[in-house]
Amino acid sequence: MSSMDYIQPLFRPPSEAGSLILQVTNGCSWNHCAFCEMYTAPQKKFNIKKQSQIETEIQLLSETCADTRRIFLADGDAMVLSTRRLLHILSCLKKYFPNLNRVSAYCLPRNIRPKTQTELNELHDAGLQLAYIGAESGDDELLKLIDKGETFASIVSSVDKLNQAKFKTSVMLLNGLGGKTYSQQHAMNSACLINEIQPTYLATLVISFPLGEKRFVNHFPNGFQMLDQQGLFHEMEVLLQNTELHNTIFRSDHASNYLTLKGVLGRDKQKLIDKLQLAQNHPSQVHLRQEWQRGL
Ligand code: SF4
Repeated sequence: MSSMDYIQPLFRPPSEAGSLILQVTNGCSWNHCAFCEMYTAPQKKFNIKKQSQIETEIQLLSETCADTRRIFLADGDAMVLSTRRLLHILSCLKKYFPNLNRVSAYCLPRNIRPKTQTELNELHDAGLQLAYIGAESGDDELLKLIDKGETFASIVSSVDKLNQAKFKTSVMLLNGLGGKTYSQQHAMNSACLINEIQPTYLATLVISFPLGEKRFVNHFPNGFQMLDQQGLFHEMEVLLQNTELHNTIFRSDHASNYLTLKGVLGRDKQKLIDKLQLAQNHPSQVHLRQEWQRGL
């Protein structure tokens, strides 16, 4: 093999835009979430790349980007690898990228559960220090409907283990996930979830369906009523009102959001709520993304 063998499409969090991507798995081992269209193409059927292939790709990447400081382990699910394999990958990365100071990955709570606290400590000390967790919601009823395969309690216990191992955690929630019916409980219970977790970063995205909403809507036996822009803002307001965060960097700036929100929670909580209220009461006074700018 003389070039990188990425199996497309590749996804990474927006904050990893400047990172080198090393694909250690293909797709997502869970791949059931009702809203998720990331790994539905036939070539994205889940598998783990061979260790020898990963090592060859690390060498190839180092030939052109030896100075890199950040590497993201793709795809949806790098933590599904055994600790032994992850430690081996991390030690190869250290060898080939002397300036590396951060390795990150998406992380399913289910893949943290089998790992002991000692293993997570070892992974952290070997350089894997930032985990992106798509919690989506803290509401158990909604998590079940969308087939997340997790509960409030299962997410909290896995993220607690990461916190104890001193990982930085970035938690994602989906604005509008439960439509009108579940909006209030989604916002309230999601606030409870992040209050429990106290993540380093919190990001919110707006639910969207570039490939059509039929598959998602079928998960709601009583129908799904999409929130309009005002409903989305109100849900965000309820969420933020109920947060009790000590020092979480909050970003709601993904292209799917109509309104960009950025700040540190709790320090900027009131300022962010004020902006959401302004967007609801005087939308002409705030900058809102137009539909064509939402990049969906
Ligand atoms: S766990 Fe993540 S990547 Fe996997 S199906 Fe759910 S949202 Fe998609």
